[in-house]
Amino acid sequence: MDIKITKCAPDRMKLKPADESRLGFGQVFTDHMFTVSYRAGKGWHDAAIVPYGPIVLDPTAMCLHYGQEIFEGLKAYRGKDGSIYLFRPRENIKRMNSSAERLCMATIDPDLFFEGMKELVLLEQDWIPHGAGTSLYIRPTMIATEPALGVHPANQYLFFIIVGPVGAYYPEGFSPTKIYVSEEYVRAVRGGVGNCKNAGNYAASLYASQQAKDMGYTQVLWLDAIGREHVEEVGTSNAFFVRNDELFTPPLSGSILPGVTRDSVIQLARSWGVKVTEQAPSMKEIVSWIADGSLKEAFASGTAAVVSPIGQIYYQGREHLINGGRTGALTERLYTEILGIQYGERPDPFGWRVKISG
Ligand SMILES: *Cc1c(COP(=O)(O)O)cnc(C)c1O
Repeated sequence: MDIKITKCAPDRMKLKPADESRLGFGQVFTDHMFTVSYRAGKGWHDAAIVPYGPIVLDPTAMCLHYGQEIFEGLKAYRGKDGSIYLFRPRENIKRMNSSAERLCMATIDPDLFFEGMKELVLLEQDWIPHGAGTSLYIRPTMIATEPALGVHPANQYLFFIIVGPVGAYYPEGFSPTKIYVSEEYVRAVRGGVGNCKNAGNYAASLYASQQAKDMGYTQVLWLDAIGREHVEEVGTSNAFFVRNDELFTPPLSGSILPGVTRDSVIQLARSWGVKVTEQAPSMKEIVSWIADGSLKEAFASGTAAVVSPIGQIYYQGREHLINGGRTGALTERLYTEILGIQYGERPDPFGWRVKISG
């Protein structure tokens, strides 16, 4: 399918942020977006890159009522030599389509998705910041647009991609997080949609996150919805625990988001000879591992931060310090290696890097 490009008028182009150190996350978006529409019987049609701007929806657009909305998150990285890279983009495309299937939404041709994303990033390449750790965040999204009430799978969808420059996650070095174990609220239950990037999961997580923040914690550590005992995720990231020389992470049981970073951490660690066990420790185990000194490190993984060290856990009225509140050696090594691969500064033994320019 051809992608029709309509450029933003020069006098309507935005000013690019002058200070890359103050970019933060999710505040700035570029001048264009990719859009493609779907209608049952007709399929995907009208792929286009158009000026960034509001989307017009009927008040009955089904995404507004019944939650058929899915998204993805990945980044474009600028290498020192000016090359532009994506990191395992086909994994995000696959995951978007499995989210679509679970929510009875239209799946999209992976090549159309990839081409749309690539064309948009290349058109907006001057927006990719230059500083260490900065990148262009890519947010593919799909919403149900059929104008009708009544719970049923919609027959019309809009897929769009927006992009925006984001700052380095750790401009001043690692800062281990304090996390709060929620026993009262859960994120997702096995058999639900916790393994999809669906808007409802994030709405459902806000209350407990707010509670944790009010008490001075960075994130919630979610437990399994039934026993409220086994670890599932940390905020919107996957969870890892290093016990002695073994790396534990919860298995993809259905309530956990299958993170691309999670998979990269597992593959890298195994390639270094680290034993990786896909098993969800219980809080009882974690507390006993902290007590006997065998829990060496804990961290969360995700596209935004790569890995985020956990320094403290609050559980049942008590604070538990991990590794003296400092970043562990394996956490640091994974961070350096993955970042190095993403920016084209390290060998790429798994073929994860996709060069789209340079
Ligand atoms: C996106 C996300 C992750 C991390 O996935 P990555 O592909 O590594 O970015 C983990 N958990 C949740 C709930 C997420 O939404």
